[in-house]
Amino acid sequence: MTISKRVVLHFPPSLVEEPMTYVLVKKFNVMFNILKARVSVDDGEGALLLELTGTERNMNNSLIYLKQLGVKTETLDKDLVRADEKCVQCGICALVCPTSAFSITAREMTLNFDAAKCIGCDECRKNCPYGAIKTYFP
Ligand code: SF4
Ligand code: SF4
Repeated sequence: MTISKRVVLHFPPSLVEEPMTYVLVKKFNVMFNILKARVSVDDGEGALLLELTGTERNMNNSLIYLKQLGVKTETLDKDLVRADEKCVQCGICALVCPTSAFSITAREMTLNFDAAKCIGCDECRKNCPYGAIKTYFP
C-alpha cells in the first residue's frame, strides 16, 4: 500500500551537500515533493519540509537511512507547537490556514490540528494575536 507522509528534516552543515533526496528515490523508491527548504545563514544548518510517498516499508527504510546519516526527522506535529496556556480559542489560525489543518469544531468551539494536512506555510503562527503558536519548520 502506498502512503504519503509529511516530514521535516533537520541536518547539520556537513550534510547540506549530501544527495539525500536522490538516494530516497534511487535506493528506496520513495518519491518526494519539497514543500519548503532552508539553509541557515547563522549556523549553516539545513532544513527541508518534504512530502514523501512510497510503500510503508520503503518509507520506514528511508527514514532509518536518514537517521543513520545524522538527519533528525520530525513529523509536522512536532514542528508546530501550540501553547494551550496562551491560546484563547479565537479561531484566527483556523481562518487563515489554507488547508484546514487547523479547524474549529463548531459545537464545542474547540481548536483541532491535523498534521497530515499542514503544508508548513506558517500563516497560523504569523497571525496568532497571542503568540500561542511556535513553528520550527524551514
Ligand atoms: S490564533 Fe492563536 S489564540 Fe487564536 S485559536 Fe489560534 S492558536 Fe489560539
Ligand atoms: S503552517 Fe500553514 S498549513 Fe500548517 S497549520 Fe499553520 S496555517 Fe495551516
